Amino acid sequence: MSSALADRLADVDARIADAARAAGRDLAGITRIVVTKFHPASLVRDLHALGVRDVGENRQQELTAKRDELASLPDLRWHFIGQAQTNKARAVRAAADVVHSVDRSRIADALDAVGSGDPLDVLLQVNLTDDTGRGGVAPAEVEALAAHVAGLASLRVRGVMAVAPLDEDPAHAFERLRRSADVVRTVVPEATWISAGMTGDFPEAIAMGATHLRIGSAITGPRPVRG
Ligand SMILES: *Cc1c(COP(=O)(O)O)cnc(C)c1O
Repeated sequence: MSSALADRLADVDARIADAARAAGRDLAGITRIVVTKFHPASLVRDLHALGVRDVGENRQQELTAKRDELASLPDLRWHFIGQAQTNKARAVRAAADVVHSVDRSRIADALDAVGSGDPLDVLLQVNLTDDTGRGGVAPAEVEALAAHVAGLASLRVRGVMAVAPLDEDPAHAFERLRRSADVVRTVVPEATWISAGMTGDFPEAIAMGATHLRIGSAITGPRPVRG
């Protein structure tokens, strides 16, 4: 295993600890998800050996393949962070422990329809941009979506998720996410998770109150190019 990977992981974890301290937050309330998309399953294996237990993928096929290949690794949680398609709901549900990207009733209904057994943890993805073509529900519609998903027996609303826009101070954008998180908690009081913060903005996300960070390249190194 490359010691560079261990070094980058340790460096990011030190920066997370610094940001938590600066914000007066308990590290125990922050889950660091390593985003491994486009990297081979062997990288996930190496990360697991370094103690990583939460990994994120944004494509269903890649998630399914890696989960199958690494089924023997204990205590590994798979977070699906990509756009979910309704016709892939069964596969997503089979492979993901948490789905971060529920942004419309249709995808929630599709995930619910294929559910049996334990409820699936889901986050409501909020669009922090003005571009309605981007993933995520508009902040004005978060409350209605939360009410809809809360009514689905096989899904458990845990909170909200967002990606900060590229053209705005992330701290400013994350304030809107925090307000959406507050709105969701008026509907589902136990929905306390806030998934935010990537390589370029995780300190700001921690300052805002993020509970789940999705960090890729700062830990994995650059992603292999994928067509
Ligand atoms: C790829 C990705 C990340 C991680 O991005 P980095 O900038 O490499 O940390 C986080 N969230 C989502 C939704 C992603 O697609």
